Amino acid sequence: MPSETKVYYPNPNFSKNAYINSFSQYREMYLQSLDNPEAFWGEIIKQFHWETPVEYDNFFRYNFDIRKGPIYTKWFDGATTNICYNVLDRIVQRGYGDKVAYYWEGNHPDDYSRLTYRKLLEEVCKFSNVLKSKGIKKGDRVAVYMPMILEAVITLLACTRIGAVHSVVFAGFSADSFAERVIDCGAEIIVTADGVWRGPKFLGLKSICDQVMDKCARRNHNIRHCIVVAHLKRVTSPDNSQKSNKVHMKEGRDIWWNDAVADSSITCPPVWTNSEDPLFMLYTSGSTGKPKGVLHTVGGYMVYTAATFKCVFDYKSKDVYWCTADIGWITGHSYGVYGPLANAATCVLFEGTPFYPDNDRFWTVIEKYKVNQFYTAPTAIRALMKYGDDLVRRHDVSSLKVIGSVGEPINSEAWLWYYKVVGGEKCSVVDTFWQTETGGHVLTPLPGATPMKPGSATFPFFGVQPALLDESGKEIEGEGEGYLVFKRPWPGIMRSLFGNHERYEATYFSKFPGYYCTGDGARRDADGYFWITGRIDDMLNVSGHLMSTAEVESLLTEHKAIAEAAVVSKPHPIKGECLYCFVITSNETHFDDNIKKELSLLIRERIGAFATPDVIHNTPSLPKTRSGKIMRRILRKVAVNDRNLGDVSTLADSTVIETLFASRPVCS
Ligand code: ATP
Ligand code: MG
Repeated sequence: MPSETKVYYPNPNFSKNAYINSFSQYREMYLQSLDNPEAFWGEIIKQFHWETPVEYDNFFRYNFDIRKGPIYTKWFDGATTNICYNVLDRIVQRGYGDKVAYYWEGNHPDDYSRLTYRKLLEEVCKFSNVLKSKGIKKGDRVAVYMPMILEAVITLLACTRIGAVHSVVFAGFSADSFAERVIDCGAEIIVTADGVWRGPKFLGLKSICDQVMDKCARRNHNIRHCIVVAHLKRVTSPDNSQKSNKVHMKEGRDIWWNDAVADSSITCPPVWTNSEDPLFMLYTSGSTGKPKGVLHTVGGYMVYTAATFKCVFDYKSKDVYWCTADIGWITGHSYGVYGPLANAATCVLFEGTPFYPDNDRFWTVIEKYKVNQFYTAPTAIRALMKYGDDLVRRHDVSSLKVIGSVGEPINSEAWLWYYKVVGGEKCSVVDTFWQTETGGHVLTPLPGATPMKPGSATFPFFGVQPALLDESGKEIEGEGEGYLVFKRPWPGIMRSLFGNHERYEATYFSKFPGYYCTGDGARRDADGYFWITGRIDDMLNVSGHLMSTAEVESLLTEHKAIAEAAVVSKPHPIKGECLYCFVITSNETHFDDNIKKELSLLIRERIGAFATPDVIHNTPSLPKTRSGKIMRRILRKVAVNDRNLGDVSTLADSTVIETLFASRPVCS
């Protein structure tokens, strides 16, 4: 049982004006969304421009049952639209041309700029024309390897304007990982920047792209064009160095962005695409293995990200919204670009890190732009929590109304800190559970409606029908724990894995025919709240007791000395498996036997004697993906001292591995 079962109610003053202002209203709308999806989504799609309207007898169709034929989902098939037109032209036509779409905040606090909706539309058209001039047409893939700069957003929208499919790879992946993905998606064009500063660290993006293009060429994959933003010369470098002139430009292939757009027209007609045409592809984070090239299509994704953004963040037209996720992740796509723009939102686009120039950068930025909705990841919250409350309190963050979390289960300690210290006990915390595959939020509180429980992603969004299955595939009714699956598609669900529909069917639909299988475990409590317990692959089975990683980790971090924890199972001759716990201590705490004993006791008392950890391993760092998630499969190897780690290309910092093996406690 989670330790924190107290319920936190939305602030009544906030609820009063929220779009969905009570739990009963949520329930009513939710039931309608399941009973009559045509009526529910039919109302929402009216705000968009459809060049060929949606036909109601072709509203949505799907097959989730592999025994009945190929898996597919189609929403609004046959209708035509253009997402770029809907998030820019339509917004400008509604009178928001002079509204700020993005405040850009650079890595260095001296660097910032802004872009209105009208200007963004012009820049997008210019770049669409450039892409067209390079021969890019509907359906072609465009590989994007960019920092968090305005040109990244412009590139995405420019692709979608002409029906090209963007494939963003987080600019931080190695040349090998990027080359793999470029070849997999078949892109012949790369859009990048010369380089970027992330905190005090320099990344030479163009030189990485040079290696990528060489690697591709060696595998007979020719990159015809590389468009490069000259970013370095316009920003302040942390060490006052001049790195801007060092990139190599290959004649005929590489071209500077500014030269490319110089004579480009500021108008470009949108290409009308079928609702079910590919919109973009994006590789998953790779927490559990080789990343999957998730494919999303136009209409459903547009409608779903717009609807979830509006309801989950309760965005109102004067608000300033900030999502810290990089554009290289699905969160950056759905809630950094498409969802907010579809709602004419003003967003902050931040290039830097939470720790530069100081550990209060997030709070500085919130204060500077008077941010109303803030959306970040538990890994950032836990890291910032380590530096204490003072850093937050030094800033005026009272503009905040809704604060969100995404990416991993948030432990109750971190939730409470976020709620109390950052949110000042007046903001709703939206713990949004979703995946690259789901396109948008699927389990989430609504800030004006849902009573919150720390660490619970609460209830399904409209149109989403979750279920819990046991090992045999039987649905668990009421309270219980099992495989989290979905019984029917919502508009934003993925349609395929790029170029590999069989892997799509095998990964998500073969284990339990008739359901979309998330790969995550969840528990439903007596009040019907969903609690994500972690990846199915990470489940612990000790002496026949099934436990989730999230549950044990949350408990360990309740100890004041522990900032972060990760737990894996290790084979045990008698118990079958035993617990091997990795812990990071809070700032300046010295780890000793006393703390170790207290942690053991905590688990004994709160979970049971059978769960007493066999090993508690104090480490300065944990292996994480580049999106900040703990890679427990690597920890399982460390636990048994096995150096055959498998694919580690998605690991953010490979030096962690040595540290982990070196810090293994003796006799573990
Ligand atoms: P891969 O699929 O390649 O292993 P990944 O699953 O980490 O990588 P993403 O699609 O970025 O790739 O992440 C989705 C996963 O993140 C979910 O399946 C879940 O495990 C976790 N997750 C996301 N949000 C939450 C949340 N609010 N609570 C708990 N877990 C979450
Ligand atoms: Mg996944």
